[in-house]
Amino acid sequence: MEYKYIFLLIFSLFHNLICDLNIHIIPHTHLDPGWLRTPEEYYFEESVGFIFNTVFNTLTKNTNKTFVINEIYYFKIWYLAQDEITKRKFKQLIKEKRIEFVSGSYIINDEATPLYYDIIDQIRIGHNFLLKEFGVIPKTGWYIDSFGHSAGNAHILAHFGFENLVLGRMHTDFLERMKIEKKTEFYWEPFGKNSNKKILTHVLPLHYGYMMYLTDLELMHLDFKRNIDYIEDNLINYLKDSRRGLKHKNLMYLFGDDFKHKDNNLFLNMDFLIERLKNDTINLDYQQKFDINEKINIFYSTPEKYFASIKKELNEYNKDLDTYTNIDFYPYRSDCFWTGFFTSRPYLKGYIRASSNIFYTFSQYYSFNRLMDEQINESIIDDLNDLREAVGLAQHHDAITGTCMQYVSKYYIDKLKMAINNVENNFIYYLKDKYKIKIGKICYNNYISDDKDF
Ligand SMILES: [Zn+2]
Repeated sequence: MEYKYIFLLIFSLFHNLICDLNIHIIPHTHLDPGWLRTPEEYYFEESVGFIFNTVFNTLTKNTNKTFVINEIYYFKIWYLAQDEITKRKFKQLIKEKRIEFVSGSYIINDEATPLYYDIIDQIRIGHNFLLKEFGVIPKTGWYIDSFGHSAGNAHILAHFGFENLVLGRMHTDFLERMKIEKKTEFYWEPFGKNSNKKILTHVLPLHYGYMMYLTDLELMHLDFKRNIDYIEDNLINYLKDSRRGLKHKNLMYLFGDDFKHKDNNLFLNMDFLIERLKNDTINLDYQQKFDINEKINIFYSTPEKYFASIKKELNEYNKDLDTYTNIDFYPYRSDCFWTGFFTSRPYLKGYIRASSNIFYTFSQYYSFNRLMDEQINESIIDDLNDLREAVGLAQHHDAITGTCMQYVSKYYIDKLKMAINNVENNFIYYLKDKYKIKIGKICYNNYISDDKDF
């Protein structure tokens, strides 16, 4: 037995010296359904349709490229407007595992302020769409912009069957400690060992953005080429910082940011940067330049490929990750503590709670009547779905938190109000017709019928 361990130790040391460093470039975009502007304003003014067009055209022309899509809210609008040929080609990209859905929920919910059943329901909206259109269910959770991370949310994800999780926005002091202790990747057992649910979790070393220190103008291809030395240094420094917290030789680099990839400039830049790094690798310049001992492999990848690589490496070399049990990651701190959003905009938070209750009440009433009376008006189900989506949208990490602009928070309330009115009118019509009785209005409580604006 001892010989075996000595052999493994020598092999492991030797492997560390010669094993390649794999850099997984993961193209993505972060599309908030409301924040500084309403979802509709973002869709048109930030050209969200162009982003999906660019991704589709780039990937169909370049077989080495990949992309991850997280929320379904905008994607569904774009996809349903496409012709059959585009839809067929898009499905092929998914089949080739070059388009990967992460989270795949309707929106990326906040993890502190929503109720658990509203989180579950908005994940279900997204997953039902993906299952129906593409027959896929994501395996990686993607919470790169929520303001701290809750054990309850992770527990729900684990029960949904998510195996992996990518988190952004970790308390700065805790993140630094994780890097020092090589724990930015770990197994998370949010509700204790006995829950029998754990999820492989990766914490981003910094913001989820790509080249965030450069302006959009500087990211134009010509300027990018001019600044390539500076950019290469920054990428390598980011990767070295990322590596501090990891126990293996695979690094994840998120290539995107808020509403990025409207045109293919960024992909052109990244192709140029990859070539540059490959040349440096051949010339072995990087070893001296960046103090890295291994050969670098840099390529477009997806979270599924990344997590498969690290599981394989950990398995092969008998390494294991630490486990965090019975813990959540609150409060979040960047330059200040993010705790105000737990209670800010109480009217908005209350309105969302009340709307959710109304949705579940009407849903159950509809289901009961559907069993008893097959003649129930089918249009009720469309109105219920609209209300369900309005409640789902309101769980977005810049909606229920109140971190959006004031007029955007009014937008969420107006959307809920309209959806509730439609459902209510439909039910009144149905009940009047069925029971031949007079019904003026269905009363909820004073809170929801109050006519405040936000
Ligand atoms: Zn966001």
